[in-house]
Amino acid sequence: MILPALEAYDVSIPVVVVGAGAAGLCAALAAKEAGAEVLVLERDPVPRGSTALSAGLVPAAGTRWQRAAGIEDSPDRFAADIMAKAGGEPDPAEVETVTRAAGPALEWLADAHGLDFSVITDFRYPGHSANRMHGLPSRSGEELVDRLREAAERAGIDILCDAQAVALHAAPDGRVTGLTLRRPDGTEDMLGCGALVLACNGYGGNKDLVRQHVPALSDALYFGHPGNQGDAILWGAALSAATRHLSGHQGHGSVAHPAGILITWATITEGGVQVNLEGRRFSDEGHGYSEQAAKVLEQPEGIAWTVFDARIAGIARQFEDFRQAEAAGAILAADSIPALAAATRLPEAALRETLGQVEHLKATGGTDAFGRSFAGVPPISPPYRAVRVTGALFHTQGGLAVDSGARVTRSDGRAFPNLFAAGGAACGVSGPHASGYLSGNGLLTAVALGRLAGGGAAALATPP
Ligand SMILES: Cc1cc2nc3c(=O)[nH]c(=O)nc-3n(C[C@H](O)[C@H](O)[C@H](O)COP(=O)(O)OP(=O)(O)OC[C@H]3O[C@@H](n4cnc5c(N)ncnc54)[C@H](O)[C@@H]3O)c2cc1C
Repeated sequence: MILPALEAYDVSIPVVVVGAGAAGLCAALAAKEAGAEVLVLERDPVPRGSTALSAGLVPAAGTRWQRAAGIEDSPDRFAADIMAKAGGEPDPAEVETVTRAAGPALEWLADAHGLDFSVITDFRYPGHSANRMHGLPSRSGEELVDRLREAAERAGIDILCDAQAVALHAAPDGRVTGLTLRRPDGTEDMLGCGALVLACNGYGGNKDLVRQHVPALSDALYFGHPGNQGDAILWGAALSAATRHLSGHQGHGSVAHPAGILITWATITEGGVQVNLEGRRFSDEGHGYSEQAAKVLEQPEGIAWTVFDARIAGIARQFEDFRQAEAAGAILAADSIPALAAATRLPEAALRETLGQVEHLKATGGTDAFGRSFAGVPPISPPYRAVRVTGALFHTQGGLAVDSGARVTRSDGRAFPNLFAAGGAACGVSGPHASGYLSGNGLLTAVALGRLAGGGAAALATPP
């Protein structure tokens, strides 16, 4: 809801950030570093967001971790990969902005705030032409958000939890002068601001908006943070801000079911395949996990089995999620195809035929009927592993259009006077389709635009 600007507010803060996920916390750290007083508002009792649910992997090109590992990469190459995955649909200026900003942002988080990133070298997600995923030691988003929150606390940034922004107050020229926040007991406060950063992610938790913009996943499991209700795009639309690619999203075709645990796509890229309940493959899994969500949901009962082996499980085990899935008993083990068929209750003959075809294609470097090339894909062999999975919606990628300083713009490209957006609140770089999502596009715009938004908001709110 947008309300008229008030004459006076209960209290005024130079920079206010809505949302304490990766985007909001990076924005707050950058604003504070630039000399502004900052307040972060978070609707939950503790900052978690979708960031905590993620694998916490942030793509960046030309980093010192890549150089140390001998990986050749550059922002231009990264930008080309993003554009190729999304069929040239993303805004090239935004792609350039975030691919250039991501590496320096990660090095800043390491140097100024002690986040010990490293680059993943033992597998690569589809569409990336270089190893450029960076993560903290546990490879979990929970660690990422916790470390960012600790850094914010050390920097003296106030994070007000249990504080939901429910309305913005704006002047006729679009300047946001403050907001109304609501506490769990229903009391409301009016807070003034010099600049506002929207870091409250997209609309994945809002069933009506999902039905409207991503109908293929309207009945799918939503695996992101339920508090992400689309407030940024609803406020933006009411202010006549430009929104873009609202149908863009990250799906995932490998969420253990019913355990509800993310199974890393390394299970596929390292040589695994997905079969349906008939023991048959149904797609080119090599395109990526995002578009695979809808394909899995089209199968009988909306279920697939991801079949891989013990070697791949060893790689996947670097992820906290995978370790949890193993502990929960979701990863089945079998020494032979008959044992695998018995454990999964898949028809043995079909499973044997499917795996035989796949291994033959790997041995001959062939391409299957779905278009997946198996050239150079490692074989799988007993002991096998298998996990029962379904497709899910992870987060939405469309959002508010922003300029190269993360300022929210109108449809004619003019920026609002003091309004910024980052992370899932801003339009991402995946275009309008699930297939446009290149792994890491989510945290990419959270970290890169978050830092830019915070610095820009501080410069506006605290002029020299
Ligand atoms: C299971 C899963 C795995 C993923 N893995 C990866 C990965 O490895 N790499 C990657 O790049 N991306 C990944 N993503 C996507 C990534 O998590 C998101 O793109 C990213 O976390 C977005 O960050 P954010 O700060 O914009 O949003 P969030 O982390 O969701 O933070 C938004 C915060 O805003 C708060 N909020 C919302 N509305 C209000 C309001 N009105 N007032 C106050 N607070 C509000 C919410 O409570 C929330 O804490 C994954 C997502 C999921 C669900």
